[in-house]
Amino acid sequence: MNIRHDWTKEEIQAIYDTPLLELIYKASTVHRQYHNPNEVQVSTLLSIKTGGCTEDCSYCGQAARYHTDIKVQRLLPLETVLEAAQKAKDSGSSRFCMAAAWREVRDNRDFDKVIDMVKGVNDMGLEVCCTLGMLTEDQANRLQEAGLYAYNHNLDTSEDHYNNVISTRNFSNRINTIDNVRKAGITVCSGGIIGLGEKDADRISMLHTLATMLKHPESVPINALVRVKGTPMEDMPKVDTWDMIRMIATARIIMPTTMVRLSAGRIEMSEYEQAMCFMAGANSMFSGDNETLLVTPNPSLSADQMLMKNLGLNPMKSKKEMAI
Ligand code: SF4
Repeated sequence: MNIRHDWTKEEIQAIYDTPLLELIYKASTVHRQYHNPNEVQVSTLLSIKTGGCTEDCSYCGQAARYHTDIKVQRLLPLETVLEAAQKAKDSGSSRFCMAAAWREVRDNRDFDKVIDMVKGVNDMGLEVCCTLGMLTEDQANRLQEAGLYAYNHNLDTSEDHYNNVISTRNFSNRINTIDNVRKAGITVCSGGIIGLGEKDADRISMLHTLATMLKHPESVPINALVRVKGTPMEDMPKVDTWDMIRMIATARIIMPTTMVRLSAGRIEMSEYEQAMCFMAGANSMFSGDNETLLVTPNPSLSADQMLMKNLGLNPMKSKKEMAI
């Protein structure tokens, strides 16, 4: 199968609507052409600055304007971050992601500290990823020079649905940051969340934006909304796992070389449901010993180790380790 960047929405919709078992079979076939189906990239995500965010993403417990139980935490010290990265590496993670609840990066001392964190984690041989909000080209260059491997900036949803979810920025702001990341030579991690009240057409549109980029994102997280009490999305219905499987399989087929990440929402899935997601082409997940994904619950490290053992999955080496 060729790598295509000219998908139409109609084609993507037709893939998404394929009878489920046929869709899984097709996605699984593509997966086997481009990836080792017995390997999963295990990433660890650490919140280096939590809560108090000025944005109004209506799914997020870290937005200052919502009344959630999340405790605000200022930027962590370098040593704490490096300790967490070492622990993650020791437990099999090949990628370490650092997240700060900022609208955008500012050129201040906190950014200098993040640059030191990137250097330190990079020196450990881990793939370093950051998600810090909007970035200028200069800031992206600084991160790249420090050794940043990937930058996460999710589209979240479709361009049409965007303003129903977030009003403090727009879809084109997202695309600008992704462009700045690309220009700096950093790999792109960008996906979205389902369960935000979107229609199927919005899901297709979001996948279409990703799959028609000049270069597909190297990593595409597919998240199921985790309903956080106190946010405007707290009463949304639970995302159906079949929908997650459809999204993962469609992403796998239209972006064959991408790491498709089964991301937020695993806590509400059984081992069997997660196995179906891997069958449908997911080959990446977040795992760690803090049992949270930023501020929402995630399975425990021991549960994930058991899952991988039961499915015969091995943790993937980092690109840096593979180059040695
Ligand atoms: S998703 Fe990010 S930008 Fe939006 S409110 Fe939460 S921390 Fe802020």
